[in-house]
Amino acid sequence: MSEAQHRAGLVAIIGRPNVGKSTLVNAMVGYKVSIVSPKAQTTRHRILGIDTSAAGQIAFVDTPGLHGGGKRAINRYMNRAARGALADVALGVLVIEAGTWGEDDEAAFRVLAETGLPRVLVINKVDRVRDKETLLPFIAGVTQGRDFAAVFPLSAEKGVGLADFRRGLLQLLPESPALFGEDEITDRSERFLVAELIREQLLRQLGAELPYATTVTIDAFAEEGQLLRIAATIHVEREGQKAIVIGSGGSRIKAIGQGARIAIEQQFERKVFLELWCKVRAAWADDEAALRGFGYVS
Ligand code: GDP
Ligand code: MG
Repeated sequence: MSEAQHRAGLVAIIGRPNVGKSTLVNAMVGYKVSIVSPKAQTTRHRILGIDTSAAGQIAFVDTPGLHGGGKRAINRYMNRAARGALADVALGVLVIEAGTWGEDDEAAFRVLAETGLPRVLVINKVDRVRDKETLLPFIAGVTQGRDFAAVFPLSAEKGVGLADFRRGLLQLLPESPALFGEDEITDRSERFLVAELIREQLLRQLGAELPYATTVTIDAFAEEGQLLRIAATIHVEREGQKAIVIGSGGSRIKAIGQGARIAIEQQFERKVFLELWCKVRAAWADDEAALRGFGYVS
């Protein structure tokens, strides 16, 4: 397989409870990634699992805030975080149960539709459908007017339809080198975790002021004895946003850096020297640059 054909991307999984999201991801990846930190719930992406094959790499993510609700301030806040997180998600997967489309499914669909992401539909638990002839009309009904890029009837539990699902997702993902090194997941995850901890501080300290498409790159990550020496850049889109992040006399970015340093020190149980920069990036046009920017591609 040539490098040009390799595909990779983040895929958000959405659906009401109990439709089989966890079962599906576990069936796809065959193991649970161990990089999920206790803080993960508050971070931008919770990595549910990474499916690596010769053809490409699918990183399934849970996106905090993509869970309906929305009336209370905390929900608005989390939804804002979710929208920021969507900047580097390539695809949304809505999971439902064969034969059922209820209010909760409709709500999950609407949340996904609002993101504007290309979306696919997984109709799970087809093993429970006795009369398979009812499946086609069901699919026709739920897809009508909902504009899914693809539909995958499958059984996560029985492992039916998973290969087609993998092929189909990869077709919809951008050409890209792997986002996670197959043998380097731990190493990568440390940088990832650091970027997440910095993002968490950004969210905490800027709240609603956090510019929409902010990313954090880890430019240097070096162990010097008991010291972790880290250089990171916060990328924003406009000069005005940079001014917000930096704050008057650099007070904001200093506080963000201090908060992040303490969090990283706790996480790694190590002294940390953190150098934090803010830069304006021209455009988000280039997917690969965005992925590299997120610290996954060397
Ligand atoms: P989640 O809440 O969406 O993450 O759902 P889970 O993955 O926890 O699954 C909920 C329940 O559905 C569990 O009892 C699973 O065993 C069951 N389940 C998941 N996938 C399938 C499937 O393909 N067929 C059947 N019959 N049950 C399934
Ligand atoms: Mg689950």
